[in-house]
Amino acid sequence: MTPADADRELDMVIVGAGFAGLYMLHNAHGLGLRAEVIERGDGVGGTWYWNRYPGARCDVPSMEYSFGFDHQLEQEWEWTEKYATQAEILAYVEHVADRFDLRADITLSTTVEACRFDDSTGRWVVTASDGVTRVARFVVMATGCLSAANVPDIEGRDGFAGRTFHTGRWPHEGVDFSGRRVAVIGTGSSAVQSIPFIAAEADQVSVFQRTATWAVPAHNEPLDLAAVAEIKADYANWRQKARDSSSAFGGYYPRREVSALDADEAELAEQYDERWEVGGLSFLRAYNDLLLDERANATAAAYIRGKIAELVDDPETAALLSPDTIVGCKRLCVDTDYYATFNRPNVRLIDVSSDPIERIDAAGPVVGGMLHEVDDIVFATGFDAMTGALERIAIEGRGGRPLRDAWSAGPVTYLGLQVAGFPNLFTITGPGSPSVLTNMIASIEQHVEWITDAIVALDAGGFRTIEPADEAQDRWVGYVNEIANHTLFHGCSSWYLGANVPGKPRVFMPLPGFPEYRAVCEQIVADDYRGFVRN
Ligand code: NAP
Repeated sequence: MTPADADRELDMVIVGAGFAGLYMLHNAHGLGLRAEVIERGDGVGGTWYWNRYPGARCDVPSMEYSFGFDHQLEQEWEWTEKYATQAEILAYVEHVADRFDLRADITLSTTVEACRFDDSTGRWVVTASDGVTRVARFVVMATGCLSAANVPDIEGRDGFAGRTFHTGRWPHEGVDFSGRRVAVIGTGSSAVQSIPFIAAEADQVSVFQRTATWAVPAHNEPLDLAAVAEIKADYANWRQKARDSSSAFGGYYPRREVSALDADEAELAEQYDERWEVGGLSFLRAYNDLLLDERANATAAAYIRGKIAELVDDPETAALLSPDTIVGCKRLCVDTDYYATFNRPNVRLIDVSSDPIERIDAAGPVVGGMLHEVDDIVFATGFDAMTGALERIAIEGRGGRPLRDAWSAGPVTYLGLQVAGFPNLFTITGPGSPSVLTNMIASIEQHVEWITDAIVALDAGGFRTIEPADEAQDRWVGYVNEIANHTLFHGCSSWYLGANVPGKPRVFMPLPGFPEYRAVCEQIVADDYRGFVRN
């Protein structure tokens, strides 16, 4: 296949129609580029299209988990709750697609299979499941960090006689669990949100827990109209405050620049009580060293363990639900009635920490030789995060080098935006950028705007291609490791490290610190794209 044989000539192919793909398309229109979004789902929305499990909602407040690039959009859209449901976020994404006239350039129900860089023409050849070959100067991977579902390869899985579901591939028509015995495998964010809903409907729920999770209450509530009006009157400043905080949200409830180790017991209790009452991820911002110092972290751990003991009636179940790990090392969960759900007579907790699920029989999971008979299995088992969606596409850069080879020892990027040897290919919220440690929308906006500016600068300078220099990429990988090494993130087997997928190289993939990262990105541009090679 050469560009001459192409079915469609474009300037830019964008893979994925979630928040990232839609904003990239909008900006491509602004640049006058011929751009097309290719999306595997039958609709737009990305993660919010797929994750329709009961109870799914965002745990970043809705006033922040929304686009800030368009003043009119943020003024006219009305969120109804502090934390928006999946349905409300999907409605918002649909609205964005219509409002900015994006649909004509989005091809749905189509999977990108391969992206190959043609050395002779300097263009990308993109093949997809619709049989159409696109040739484009730029490829933007807007494939999401948590989009490649991870279903563990447990022996006998496919021979289960009942229904199986993955939280990230939930049937659009919904699932009726009434009268059913349901196994839920996993206790991460998706499980924590869905278990209370499934338990309210099903006859019996068996939760298979490999690692106990830390959860803090959401305290979701309807949005107060006066508070919303106040935010909207000063939205730009409000968003800037968020961007200036390390996770790109919660600027209005910022991290206290105080060490937990300097607080006495009464102060700790007061501070954690306050954060517990506010609810949500701001809990981890009570002190500035909770993710840096194990002794500081232990104060938060002791507090939450105390709460679990208060909330769960049966002491044995409470003990099993109480983690002995670092709070926030795996992503902190935000719950509504998760712990209290274990007080229901129809819910039981099955510990598979030392005795894993050995196989799945036709009738249900088997643990320690004991069959747990169920009608349905819900895999709340997460994702092949950050790299999975990219590596499932056959991406080949210069000289036909597969991305999978370039990343065989773990992902390497420059700024999380580009990979050496893959010119004009951009990865929105790629590994090596703050991405999943932040409010994703803020990170997406920053990346899309950086890519947009890079293309303008490329054309203004008369260049055709941009890609990282090897040395700059090596330095960046070293820098990301060094920053991560100062944190407690290496202290557990998280998906941040790829530890949830057997055989995946263990590399801490995101970069802590959004404001510092933004400053580096800006400085690199000011230094005439330092570390990038432009030809
Ligand atoms: P996850 O955090 O990776 O949790 C997966 C769960 O499945 C873990 O408890 C894991 O146990 C368990 N598991 C995996 N394989 C297993 C096996 N073979 N046997 C037993 N247990 C097994 O996935 P997730 O809950 O879908 O969440 C992923 C991320 O998506 C979150 O961290 C968050 O960033 C995002 N998310 C956000 C929201 C929100 O905004 N509210 C909601 C859902 C998801 P181990 O811990 O032992 O590995």
